[in-house]
Amino acid sequence: MTGSLIFPNHPLLVITFSIGAILFLSWIAIAVISFKENEMIAFRRSMLMSIGMSAPYLIVSINLFPYQILSAQTLLAITAFAILVLILPVGKRTSKITVIPDNYRFDERDTMFSRHELQQGTPQSKEYYSAHPKAKNTDDRFRRKPGLLSPNSKYYDQYYFQAADASFDTIARIRNTVDGPVNPAKIDSKPTEISRFLKQWAIKLGSHSVGITTLKPYHLYSVSGREDRYGKPVNINHSYAIAITVEMDFAAVSSAPLAPTVAESARQYVNSGIIAIQIAKFIRDLGYSARAHIDGNYLVICPLVARDACLGEIGRMGLLITPDLGPRVRLAIVTTDLPLAEDNYTRDYTVEDFCRHCKKCAVNCPAGAIPKGNPGDHNRIKRWKINDAACFTYWCGVGTDCGQCLRVCPYSHPNTFLHNLIRVCIRNSLIFRRFALIMDDFLYGRQPKPKDYTCPAVAGQIKSVNRRRFSSLTT
Ligand code: SF4
Ligand code: SF4
Repeated sequence: MTGSLIFPNHPLLVITFSIGAILFLSWIAIAVISFKENEMIAFRRSMLMSIGMSAPYLIVSINLFPYQILSAQTLLAITAFAILVLILPVGKRTSKITVIPDNYRFDERDTMFSRHELQQGTPQSKEYYSAHPKAKNTDDRFRRKPGLLSPNSKYYDQYYFQAADASFDTIARIRNTVDGPVNPAKIDSKPTEISRFLKQWAIKLGSHSVGITTLKPYHLYSVSGREDRYGKPVNINHSYAIAITVEMDFAAVSSAPLAPTVAESARQYVNSGIIAIQIAKFIRDLGYSARAHIDGNYLVICPLVARDACLGEIGRMGLLITPDLGPRVRLAIVTTDLPLAEDNYTRDYTVEDFCRHCKKCAVNCPAGAIPKGNPGDHNRIKRWKINDAACFTYWCGVGTDCGQCLRVCPYSHPNTFLHNLIRVCIRNSLIFRRFALIMDDFLYGRQPKPKDYTCPAVAGQIKSVNRRRFSSLTT
């Protein structure tokens, strides 16, 4: 044996050593990223992985190792096989979820928000509960709780609750501006051209993603269930819908179900609503009818519209799972008769497949509201349906809109190169999907705890104010 005792002197050993070094550095990089994301379990375990994963390669590369070449050959063969298995585009392309028939309609009066607004003893309340006697007991349960944003609720926090309340108040004030008069001077526009402009403009206004679909009957509620629209049939003559998403702050969602998460929800309802209102107004000024659908004033079911507009798929928790932010988004919709270029939706079966095995939202739901089994039969439609009454009752006890399912979802990780690379591999390979689940549980925990939250923007401002004060004292 010639050459140094430690460093490899054979091409095969050089490759083995290099793989060991790459693995070591990659896991160190993952540890640093996890530290920055405040994922301390992932940080510690990545540090361990950096040693554990690289050690076999580095040890084999030491010239004293017995049967060195044979060991290196075996190690490299196992590595090549593992990489091949993980990146090969394999996996069934089937679904157990039924495609919703075109004529299917949901009644908004059955939603928890509508039932929450029912005043006891009013004709509407009497009519609803005589038609749905089972819902009475269920709803009385949430009515006995302190309520959303209540000072008596479990996670009451004066500042965050008041911040959320101010945002909800803002959205209540703009709710009546979703529609308006249409400019009688109609402009001629090419669908592709105006669609491109609208998408760019929506992003400029602060959307994370935007898509266009033709408006389908099942997008619309059959009957309205909120405020003065209660009981009125929903009819819109619009042909197109523009769906937008806005990102919810990762750090705020990481604190779910604590108070910062409800302030963040409310903030993003306002942001998405303001964008939708501006787009609708812009279209009406072009001479076409348009209506925004924002928090508390929807005629459409946002996740279904957004899915058909190619913005994601509906997951086990019943929310839209977007490709790069998962469920960590809020939605708003604009419907219009302006001719637009539709985005062609093709179903992404990998989300359903991932959800089928993941179940992390169901395991972590404090209300037991998310089903753990396969998609069930609900009004002849096979899908996952959450127990919205159990979910809402939990909200009314803790005072926030919970969001633990959003926090723990493996798709919710930040929109960064590392997580997006994993998302691409998840879409590509069934085997990688199973592997990713094991790794997500290993790195972040099967039942991760909420994190402390300090609003980064506010923290930054406090620091800069302190710095200014300090410099004014020293000059
Ligand atoms: S937590 Fe898992 S099961 Fe739940 S929606 Fe996310 S990926 Fe699907
Ligand atoms: S918001 Fe909370 S209670 Fe509701 S489904 Fe998600 S985890 Fe469960």
